[in-house]
Amino acid sequence: MSTTELRPVEDIGGFYDQMGGLIEVMGGNIHVGYWHDDEDQTPLLEAINRLTDIVGAKVDLQPGQHLLDVGCGVGMPAIRLGQRVEARITGVTISDWQVQEATRRIKAHGLRGQVEVELGDAADLAFEDESFDAVLLFQSLQHATDRGQWLREAVRVARRGARVVLTEFIEEIPLRPDEVEILRAGAMHPPLRYRELLEVVGASGIVVDDVLDCGDRIRRSYPGYFDRLDRHRDHLVEAFGEERVDMQREAMSTLLPIYRDKIGYLVVTGHKPRR
Ligand code: SAH
Repeated sequence: MSTTELRPVEDIGGFYDQMGGLIEVMGGNIHVGYWHDDEDQTPLLEAINRLTDIVGAKVDLQPGQHLLDVGCGVGMPAIRLGQRVEARITGVTISDWQVQEATRRIKAHGLRGQVEVELGDAADLAFEDESFDAVLLFQSLQHATDRGQWLREAVRVARRGARVVLTEFIEEIPLRPDEVEILRAGAMHPPLRYRELLEVVGASGIVVDDVLDCGDRIRRSYPGYFDRLDRHRDHLVEAFGEERVDMQREAMSTLLPIYRDKIGYLVVTGHKPRR
């Protein structure tokens, strides 16, 4: 893929439909891992689950509560959270393929009736006002054309006092225009800076209680991704074909170094005011 062929992705659902099962490289999750320090030798998949647990602890879901997971992928974080606490979880994704795959995984984990995933748009959620006890946006906000719109929707459907937790990339070192183009071709909107992101979060009506600034703790996900992709290449080629595996590797080789070198990561925990 030469730089001149780069086009911004407009159909994010179609983008994820196409990626499909290749997310197996990350154990079906579509988020980064977390390492405690530079000596931490934890393998990628375990580090990915660890971030789910860190985020899950921030959500602090209680038995009987109902969580909305906005941009839920194939439901791996929702399944993990649902295994730990007897709470209901509804996931929303814009990808048809993910809805089907998530539904299959939920059933396989014996969580039907507790966890469900449906097709929907984070910018226009099909839920009543104040209908969830907590709302999570786990590495999905980077796909929002208007981050404020997604967050206002999250706040609208959250009950008063509900936790709202999000993870998001932040620009640490300014991106060049050609790098922004690469991000857009990878279905990502360019990240905001720390302060800008927190302004958008605050302006949407979320009261921020805690910010975990962990760019350096998640960065090893990027080399870790290629390690696993290459280690499991034969199996992936058998399942998805050489062309798709090579295309994925090439796209990630252009995209991920930008994340590694210039982009950080925040876990923002807040709540909707009780008023
Ligand atoms: N939270 C999941 C997936 C993160 S990938 C995980 O950690 O595994 C980003 C997710 O956001 C994908 O599921 C994608 O379909 C979803 N997404 C992107 N745009 C969306 C939109 N407009 N509405 C709802 N979901 C969206």
